Parts: sequence; C-alpha cells; structure tokens
Amino acid sequence: MNTTTGVRSTALQSTALGYPRIGSNRELKRALESHWAGRTDAAALEAAAAAVRAEMLDDLSVLDAVPTGTFSLYDHVLDALAAVDALAPRHRRDSDLASYFAAARGDDAAAPLEMTKWFDTNYHYLVPEIGPDTAFAARPAKAVAEFREAKDRGLDARPVLLGPVSFLLLAKPAEGAPEGFAPLDRLGDLVEVYVDLLAALAEAGAGPVQIDEPALAADRTPAELEATAAAYRRLAAETEIIVAGGYGPFGEAIGTLLDAGVAGLALDLVRGRGDLETLEALNVSRETFLIAGVIDGRNIWKADLAKAAADIARLQAITDRVGVASSSTLLHVPVDLAPELHAEHGLPEELTARLAFARQKLREIVALADPSGSRATRPETPGAWRDEAVRERLAGLGADADRRAPYPERRAAQAERVPLPPLPTTTIGSFPQTAELRKARAAHRQGLMIEADYHARMRAEVVAVIAEQEKLGLDVLVHGEPERNDMVQYFAEQLTGFATTAAGWVQSYGSRCVRPPILYGDVARTAPITVDWIAYAQSLTEKPVKGMLTGPVTILAWSFVRDDQPLADTADQVALALRDEVADLEAAGTAIIQVDEPALRELLPVRAASRAAYRDWATRSFRLATSGARPDTAIHTHLCYSEFGEVIDAIAALDADVTSIEASRSKMEVLADLDRAEYRSAVGPGVWDIHSPRVPAADEMAAALRLAVAALGPDRVWANPDCGLKTRRYEEVRPSLANLVEAAGAVRAEVQRP
Ligand code: GLN
Ligand code: ZN
Repeated sequence: MNTTTGVRSTALQSTALGYPRIGSNRELKRALESHWAGRTDAAALEAAAAAVRAEMLDDLSVLDAVPTGTFSLYDHVLDALAAVDALAPRHRRDSDLASYFAAARGDDAAAPLEMTKWFDTNYHYLVPEIGPDTAFAARPAKAVAEFREAKDRGLDARPVLLGPVSFLLLAKPAEGAPEGFAPLDRLGDLVEVYVDLLAALAEAGAGPVQIDEPALAADRTPAELEATAAAYRRLAAETEIIVAGGYGPFGEAIGTLLDAGVAGLALDLVRGRGDLETLEALNVSRETFLIAGVIDGRNIWKADLAKAAADIARLQAITDRVGVASSSTLLHVPVDLAPELHAEHGLPEELTARLAFARQKLREIVALADPSGSRATRPETPGAWRDEAVRERLAGLGADADRRAPYPERRAAQAERVPLPPLPTTTIGSFPQTAELRKARAAHRQGLMIEADYHARMRAEVVAVIAEQEKLGLDVLVHGEPERNDMVQYFAEQLTGFATTAAGWVQSYGSRCVRPPILYGDVARTAPITVDWIAYAQSLTEKPVKGMLTGPVTILAWSFVRDDQPLADTADQVALALRDEVADLEAAGTAIIQVDEPALRELLPVRAASRAAYRDWATRSFRLATSGARPDTAIHTHLCYSEFGEVIDAIAALDADVTSIEASRSKMEVLADLDRAEYRSAVGPGVWDIHSPRVPAADEMAAALRLAVAALGPDRVWANPDCGLKTRRYEEVRPSLANLVEAAGAVRAEVQRP
C-alpha cells in the first residue's frame, strides 16, 4: 500500500517544505545584480541559478522526500503568476525572463507589481493583479525542470506549487475590475489551469504534489472555505495532493481539505499546535498522510526534540502515514551555522550550542525520523543572560509611563519650536549606500580600515548628504544613516542581549537579503547610540535634522528572538533602552525624532483571536519608547506599507505626531481609511516608490499630493518618498527628490492661495 508516496506505514518520512534559495554565499544575489546591471547575459544568470539549485539539492538530499520548485529568481508568487501565464500586458517583453523582471522591478515603460509582506514575516512578495478577464494558461516548464533536476539525482522529489486559493487571496483586483470583483471569483478558471500543471508534473513522473495554501492558516469566511472545498475536490481527483500551511493553524480548513479528498496535510506544529486537537477530534482515515512540522522554520533555536517526538507520536496515533518536517519553508532562516563557528569574532559557544540554521534543521528532521535518532530536550537559558537591573526598572515604571500630552497641545508647541510650511518635504532617513560606503564598511569589518578612518569616512558622507539636501531645498533633513549597516542590526550591535552573525543572511525580497541579529538575553543600553551622529549633522545646517531610531516592535520583528519569555516582555526591555536614547537626543537639542516601525503590521498574528493582545503590547512598547519626549519634540514614525487593515487602530494608538507610509504603488486610496480610524495627526504618504529604479515626474507626485490634501486637509500632509533611499543610486535620487520638492512647492502654492 501507499506505493505512490513511498511511505512505509510505520516509518516516518523526513522532509522539508521549502529551502533558502539565494545560495549559501548569496551567489544568486550577485548573479541577479550583475545581470540587471547589464554586465552578464541570461545564460550566465541561468548558470548561476543552476548552481544554486544544485546546492539546494545537495543539502536536501539527506531527506527521504525532497521539495522541488521552491527555487526562485525573484519571488515564488511571481513564479506562480508566470506558471499560469497571467503576467499583465504592461509587463510583457520580448523574452520570458525580461517580462519576469519587468513585473518584479518595473522599468521605464511600466511600474512593477506592488510588493507587500508575506504573512507575518519579513519576506516581501509581489502582488498579482487579477481581473475578470485575466487569461490563464499552464506554463509548467519551471516546475517540471526543477522536478527533473531532483529526479535525475535519484531523489524522491515532491513538486511544490503555490496553491490557487492562496494565490488569488494574495492577489489584488486588476485596474479596471468592476466594483465588487474579488480575484477569488476566478478560482474555478484557475483550478482548470492547475489541473494542467498537475498533469504536466504527472507526465514527468511526479507522485504526490505539495500545494502550499498558507492563506488557509488565516481566518477564512464560510464562502472562502466553500470555494476551497470545490477547488480541492477537483484537484484531488487528479493527483495525490498534500496541502501545506506553514504560518499557523489550519483550524477549520482541516475538515474542508480532508473532506475534499486531499491525500495529506503538512501542519505547522510550532505556531499551530491546536491542529493536533482538531485532528484528534475528527474521524481521520489511517491512510491520510500527516506531516508534522515540528522544526521551527521561522526561528533559529535548536528544537526540543523530546517535545517534537511527543507531537509526532500524537499524529501516529491518528494515521499510519506520518512525515516529519519544518513548520514552514526554511526560506526564513539562514543556510548554515558553520560560518558562525569559524568567524573571527564568532558567536560565543554558549550561544552556538543552542542554534540551528537550515542545514542543522535538516539534521534535526532526519534525527526525528530515525527511530534511533536523538530526542534531547533543550537546556535552560543561562542565568548570565539575565539583567536584574533592567527587570527592576521595568517593574517599577508607573502606570502612565506610556502617555504624552494630548496631540493638539503638542502640535501647537512643535509648530512654535520648528515653524514649517504646509506640505513640508523630508525623506525617510537613509541615503544611497554607495559602492564606496560599502567598501569602507567591508574594509572596516575585516580590520583593514582603522576605526578613526572609518568614522571620518562616514562623517564625510554626512557632510555630503546634508549638502545634497540643502541644495535640493528639503525642509526637514536627515543625516543619511551611512554608519548603519542595517536599521536593526546597528542598534543590536550596541545593545546587550544581542548577537550579530557573520553570514546569517535571509532573503527579504528579490536579491535583497538581511542578516537578522539574535536576541538571546535581557536587553540594555550601555551608552548613547545615535546622539553624536545627529548632533554632528545638525551642526552642519540651519534646517532641522531628524533624530532616527528603530522602534521596539521592528527590532523584535527583524531579529531572531528568544522564545523563552513572552514577546511583550522582550519588547518592553528594548523600549526602555530607546526611551533613554530619546532623552539623550532631546538633551542634545533634537526637535524631531523619528522612530521607525515598519514591522508593526508584520508581527500582527495571522488569526484575529490573537490580535488584540498583540496590538496592546506592540503599541505600549512604542509609547514607552517615545512618551518621555517633551510636547514640543515631534515624534515621527515610519511604516513601510499602506495596507493597514487590521493595524489601523494600532497606528492611531502609537500616538505619533507624523506617520509616513507607503502610498505610491497603491495610490492614495488608503488615506481615507486612516481618517476613518480616527487617526488625527499628520501623514506623509509616500509619493515616490523607492522600490523601483523609476524616477517619478513632478506632475505625478503633485497629483498624489493633491489627493492626500483632498483626503486629509492641507495641514496634515507631508511630502516624502515611501521608504529609505539606501537601495537607490544618486542618479535616481537627485532627480526624484528635485521633482518631489517641485511637486510639494506647486501644491503648497495652491493650498496657500486664498
Ligand atoms: N529610516 C530607515 C531608512 O530610511 C527606514 C527604513 C525602513 O523603513 N525600512 O532606511
Ligand atoms: Zn520603509
């Protein structure tokens, strides 16, 4: 029996749901960037991509069943769009590769697809645009080729496709779609194309196929579940299908999927352990293939193998066919711990002994699947990682430690301290990280540039960035953040309780990778972090310079965080350190302090039931960080997106004086939502999409500003790009900012006209 899956009834099948795809040394990043810069052709890019895929398969070959098709040149949602041949006409170029990159990055002829965060992660996907007339056709070449690559090595290969339900739920209506149209309305049509994709895979020799439906780990309406049931009845009739979730519990979708006849489910037993009870209460066939996602695909701590084994045993009581895997794809963790062990300033042994990156996680999976493998429990957190002083200070804070004076009072005081015209112009903080800056940073890191020279180089950059902004005529300046390798890592390096890795890279979007710090113990600030830089920048200009901090929620979201205490407690410790930094900036004369919280929405729990508690601790920690500021000090915050949905109340609860958001890619439609949520302070809707190399015209930005003024009134609008400029080049930044200043000037003149 079960010959198709090759799973013997008592053995545990070791597998994973997906794997990092940028290369262990970020080989794909370099290959992509040189291709985009026109230095290498498509064949060279494909050769580099093939080498990355080969490395992925080398790693995955320790498993009984290997996921295939999880490689991507940019994004797996864009891959799904390409697999159903639904690229928008504006992105069609003369080769598939050129079309693909036009959709991903935009070009002179067309804006790219919108980009947004993937569930509660720091990964960004491209948002498909689907209309009532979008044509679908199967383009199975990529899925088939990657399946064959694994098959040719003699591996038990399991193709992975992003599921049609999640694909459509992640999509947005194409421009011109009628009111009331939802992409999910197209599920019936799309499923027929998936039938063709499955047929092509079967033809290539595939057995069971993993279909990822992460959107089913969120709350779904009865109608959505009904549509899901219909889709899977159709698909399950074609092929053995294993539906993977990966970002929380499947909940009620379990019944829907099993009733529809799917062969199996891959469960997230790290965040969705409730699914064990759900399954135990159902009458599940002993033929059902259940994959126990017990190895955390989202964090870097070694698993408690004893606890994992106990959960696996619960599944074995339900069915004869059980697999063991990561809870989600391993895309969200770095490839290998080895470089950290050998690095010159490597992580302390006490810490590395507790860590597992992707390769190490594969070994944990293999150990769990092996009846004689390790079942070790996890050691206690060392006492030396506790800081009693921080704990006492937090415990002693008064009940209203997170309250400021009312906004109208602050607004008047701030206007008096720093008079500004309507629609003040500013940027979000960073200026281009030029090749010279990166070179200096690398030389410094490798010990080839002494501290004093490095510092002088960064100060020279601040001088240049201030001069650029003065020349452009911006109203509120920034120092440009040249000294920061990354907005979270920079703070982590100067706070206790954090470790930074040498090479722990994780893909954020496209070729962009981040190196999340590891927050392992109690957090404290030992000295001011940013004050010298801001004070120096301010000494160079008469214009106000913004202080620039990263908020507590974002510091947590973009770190690998300890899992031995509630996130709320960890957030408060970080907030306390930032509160001291705010006080020191203020004492140095800073009148405007921006505390970035681009990750506020990202950490929002996928299921509604857990959201209120999140909103409480997240906004409290931000207020704890900022509420010590005087009323005449303006607190700005920045969020990297505009689809507020469930965090809109949280944005109001941050109680900032100015909030900059992303708005350009999705127009200005979101401003009315802010108003409805009783957000009463000022907004800087991003009028330049910095994720694309395109230079926006002044007219285009002026039109966006007019919409913002129409929605919010002339006194509440700032003019700014939608994010920091560090990934852009000066060739794009100078003309874009000049146009932005021109646009703000034009609209300012209109609103000032009596
Ligand atoms: N101040 C940061 C910058 O400009 C904000 C970046 C972000 O929101 N991701 O780089
Ligand atoms: Zn941003």
